[in-house]
Amino acid sequence: MSHDTQTETRGFQAEVRQLLDLMIHSLYSNKEIFLRELISNASDAAERLRFEALGNAALFESDSEIKIEVEYSENLKTITVRDNGIGMSRQEVVENLGTIAKSGTQEFLKAMTGDRQKDSQLIGQFGVGFYSAFIVAEEVTVTTRRAGLGAEEGVRWQSDGKGEYSVRTVPRKLRGTEVVLKLRTGEEEFLNGYRLRNIIGKYSDHITLPILMPKEGKDASGFERVNAATALWSRPKSEISDEEYNEFYKHVAHDHEAPLARIHSKVEGKLEYTLLLFIPKHVPFDLWDPERRRGVKLFVRRVFIMDDATQLMPRYLRFVRGVVDSNDLPLNISREILQDNKIIDGMRAGAVKKVLGLLEELVTKGEYGVFWKTFGRVLKEGFIEDASNRDRLAKLARFSSTHTDSEEQEVSLDDYVTRMKEGQSAIYYVVADGFATAKNSPHLEVFRKKGLEVLLLSDPVDEWAVTHLTEYSGKPLKSVSKGALDLGALEDKDDKAAAETEAGEYKDLVERIRKSLAERVKEVRVTHRLTISPACLVADEHELGAHLERLLKAAGQDLPATPPILEINPEHPIVRRLRREVEGPRFEDWARILFDQALLSEGGRLDDPAGFVHRLNELFLVISGEAA
Ligand code: ADP
Ligand code: MG
Repeated sequence: MSHDTQTETRGFQAEVRQLLDLMIHSLYSNKEIFLRELISNASDAAERLRFEALGNAALFESDSEIKIEVEYSENLKTITVRDNGIGMSRQEVVENLGTIAKSGTQEFLKAMTGDRQKDSQLIGQFGVGFYSAFIVAEEVTVTTRRAGLGAEEGVRWQSDGKGEYSVRTVPRKLRGTEVVLKLRTGEEEFLNGYRLRNIIGKYSDHITLPILMPKEGKDASGFERVNAATALWSRPKSEISDEEYNEFYKHVAHDHEAPLARIHSKVEGKLEYTLLLFIPKHVPFDLWDPERRRGVKLFVRRVFIMDDATQLMPRYLRFVRGVVDSNDLPLNISREILQDNKIIDGMRAGAVKKVLGLLEELVTKGEYGVFWKTFGRVLKEGFIEDASNRDRLAKLARFSSTHTDSEEQEVSLDDYVTRMKEGQSAIYYVVADGFATAKNSPHLEVFRKKGLEVLLLSDPVDEWAVTHLTEYSGKPLKSVSKGALDLGALEDKDDKAAAETEAGEYKDLVERIRKSLAERVKEVRVTHRLTISPACLVADEHELGAHLERLLKAAGQDLPATPPILEINPEHPIVRRLRREVEGPRFEDWARILFDQALLSEGGRLDDPAGFVHRLNELFLVISGEAA
């Protein structure tokens, strides 16, 4: 106990120091945002209290009217922001105000360049939070008591933001948190009621809690409310300005940039709810973090229920931010009830439709490119996750294709379909680990020759995604590296006839290669798929495909080995030469090289790369006449 009440001085985590330094130097042109951040935290703390109190009403103590107070003192040169929200325990203070526990911070700091100009843009995207107090303050003192803890267990945290902070346990009756900023010399402009009200109006009007300030003027006493404190989404659209929407977005999304798009809609009918949803302009730092926490907030009749209501948004729309406010749910709803709730399911289905509608609108307005670049990879997960909207999602998907050969994913399936050749019955695609591998895949050779477009898929999610997208507008999607080449009506009669005779002529060679490669291949056959390469590997129609197999193995799945089919190009000089080598002493090596290079060219890994190099070098020597 004695240890706990002592003052303890601790160093900030290195990342915090880095962040503080950057912040103080890069945000000086927009100092006033510190107030928005502190009010935003106070509002979050109130929401957390309400949420925890759902299960334990005692946490309200005798003080359930939650509010935020902002005061200043010209004499002391201080600004105070006070809330009666959840508060913090000593441990929470150390965790929250001494380290950066936020997911994504590491990535953020890694992305920093050291170039102040660029980094200040980055910090704008990241969200600066509590530490922004040090932009204007030379000393910050936080006094807090967590709801549920006794009056002896208050905590005081203090720092000049230079590298260390102190914490000690102090007696405190008031629940919640009080942040006192001792302003730096030169920041006196903020010691002004009019100025502070103005900043609150600009950034925090949408906060649904009352924000109170002392009345001004001679003989004035008591506090008055300085924000509108009406839920923004409950107001008519026509009365809300873009600025108000944007400030609201920044608060709910903890973002510093305006959103890319928004949808504000009141749904009436069997279910009644309002949604105000936003699509960010950039990737949230925790998009790929399984423990990400912010998403859509759930309100019931304008009362906050919970953050990150994952049930309200499918995973593939996890970048969406905003609120859904239900008129139908009970106020005392618990997380468990949310799990399997018809009202929630109905609202989610409705919200998804609205978001997809918003994306379709972006397409019409020609603003979809930015979105796809930023979130396309996530949206594609929807093919897997959301069968009921698959067609709409497919329409929204964009790909690279041999039409442009550009890495930019700009081709829609509709574009593809309008360009299909007469007699073409399928939409063709190739999947590989990277764009270059896809683009240069030997499987494309015949398609390029015939001018048939092929989609080039190289995002990690692609192979899974396309297996769920079996057709589009009545046309099957077909991998060019699976099954026998069947171009149907597009096949040249001559090619077909030639293939048949060749199959006969190459029977011995095919047999011999098969014997040499033994269990490495399932089958060897002659193909017309290739025009440049001597050989390629294909998977059987119903097998996973080499790429997906590699992905699953990398993910730790134990898969039975499925040997591929080796297809050889009868027109290729190497293959023709090989026909004459069937009895030759080096045939085994030739066969292995043929197989290994086919594997390499589709992005596969050799199980014996040194052996490959050795065999290749031997061959060079033979050709150059140097071999022993
Ligand atoms: P963020 O709000 O994005 O989490 P901040 O830097 O603004 O990041 O705040 C860090 C953490 O400090 C918050 O997540 C919260 O846990 C805690 N915190 C800050 N202000 C308060 C407050 N007024 N009441 C309770 N906790 C707070
Ligand atoms: Mg914050």
